[in-house]
Amino acid sequence: MFDSSQNDRSFAEDSELQRIRAEFPSWAEERIDRLSGRIHGELDELARVANENPPRLERYDARGERIDRVDYHPAYREMERIAFEETGLIWLHHDPAFTSEHGRVPRKVPFALGYLFAQAEQGLYCPICLTDGTATVLSRHAEESLREKCLPRLAARRYEDLWQGAMFLTEREGGSDVGRSETRAVEDGVGWRLHGLKWFCSNASAELALALARPEGAPDGTGGLGLFAVPRWQPDGSLNECHLLRLKDKLGTRSMATGEIRLDGAFAYRVASPPDGFRVMTEMLNLSRLYNAVASVAVLRRAYVEAKEHASRRIAFGKRIADHPLCARTLSELEASWRDNFRLAFHAIDHYEQMEATGDETSSQIVRLLTPLVKYTTARAAVQATLEAMEILGGDGYCENFVTARLLRDAQVLPIWEGTTNILVLDALRAISREGTLTPLLEEVRERLEKTGDDEGLAEADRLETLLARCKDPAFEGEAREACDRLTALVVRSLR
Ligand SMILES: Cc1cc2nc3c(=O)[nH]c(=O)nc-3n(C[C@H](O)[C@H](O)[C@H](O)COP(=O)(O)OP(=O)(O)OC[C@H]3O[C@@H](n4cnc5c(N)ncnc54)[C@H](O)[C@@H]3O)c2cc1C
Repeated sequence: MFDSSQNDRSFAEDSELQRIRAEFPSWAEERIDRLSGRIHGELDELARVANENPPRLERYDARGERIDRVDYHPAYREMERIAFEETGLIWLHHDPAFTSEHGRVPRKVPFALGYLFAQAEQGLYCPICLTDGTATVLSRHAEESLREKCLPRLAARRYEDLWQGAMFLTEREGGSDVGRSETRAVEDGVGWRLHGLKWFCSNASAELALALARPEGAPDGTGGLGLFAVPRWQPDGSLNECHLLRLKDKLGTRSMATGEIRLDGAFAYRVASPPDGFRVMTEMLNLSRLYNAVASVAVLRRAYVEAKEHASRRIAFGKRIADHPLCARTLSELEASWRDNFRLAFHAIDHYEQMEATGDETSSQIVRLLTPLVKYTTARAAVQATLEAMEILGGDGYCENFVTARLLRDAQVLPIWEGTTNILVLDALRAISREGTLTPLLEEVRERLEKTGDDEGLAEADRLETLLARCKDPAFEGEAREACDRLTALVVRSLR
């Protein structure tokens, strides 16, 4: 049992959450309050049990028929119900009935709710992200008949009606280097059949996955990839040919099933043909990267709250450890890291919302560059914060009675999935060199720095502009990470 002595006080004290929720309609504020009251205690306990009882794969039924079923502990199922049905992490944004009553629900609302939810449970936040990504891509790119079939399920308000999404991208050969993907797509007159091995499939029991595959005769590389929607059930009701080979034995996010799946002539609907398959998939990927950033700031907040709570109670050498200068310093660094990263992530989300709601070109360019920067920066900060928080709790922090051990395990994947740091740095370079995204980002940053009279920040903007002008030069690649770090630090500075 975790120490659940904290109540929702930490949420009332969360000045960043309070700041953004001030813009929310009252129905959204109520949802924030309701979820806040459940994190420490109910959700924590469900998460603890679900992570101690990870999902199990049942490949065959008693008669030896293939069922490829993932069995979850009831605690995980209850968290799913809370997240999908009660909190509405998907349907709030995607259900047309809700939006026709309340208007378009800005992305910030489900992301703020997700920030709360992920402070208790990181594993399930991944299927939430994947379901949103699947719904978002299908709503933009699928044919009407496919949209009508899938979207009401992905945005279902009742848990029993829900379909969850997944993303089959990574293969044994092609992880970061997606162009090496070997999965083939063959048209059979009725639909498409996919053949290949997907090496990391989170939410392995999902009812619908978006998968990259190369139609026969398409060229090598990412330009030859198409995007397909792979249902768990074929149109005739039989189990699709998605063979769940095994579940990964993971360091963290253990409540959630990540599997290896062999597509053995799996039935699929085409969503995008080459050369657009990968481009369309990056829309899901980029949204996932914002989810990753929200998960990371949730870790940062939780780590800070746990450390602060402990340090204000624990007495050592005659006073509370929080009052010892070195400990106070660590706590204020943890707080600053949470605050900076929160602002960074939600700033990118604001631009994403602007792009999606209005098609604003400047926001679209800014979020294009911010997404890789924000993803890797917040993820690495989250990992660092879990180390610091654990150390502040001392020996207790290392034990499973406290949330810090799981927090540390769960955070480690944040810099890896949805693209590793180096890959995201390269992506940021491409966004600058091919898509001219640096100019609008720096313009916005300069505007804010001018308002506060930050001359040193403005000088750094000039230096970075000169430095990043070299980004097309292959010799620059080795220095690119430092340049991207400095650029992100400048954005953060302008948001303070
Ligand atoms: C728990 C978990 C769940 C996952 N779930 C999913 C999922 O649902 N769907 C999915 O599609 N994938 C999923 N993944 C896969 C994940 O996205 C990949 O593992 C990740 O993108 C890295 O790819 P890779 O493992 O092939 O590593 P590699 O691509 O082999 O990279 C290894 C290292 O090489 C570095 N590197 C590679 N190329 C370069 C370069 N050009 N310059 C500098 N450095 C380079 C990388 O930065 C990295 O540090 C999951 C992974 C994990 C761990």
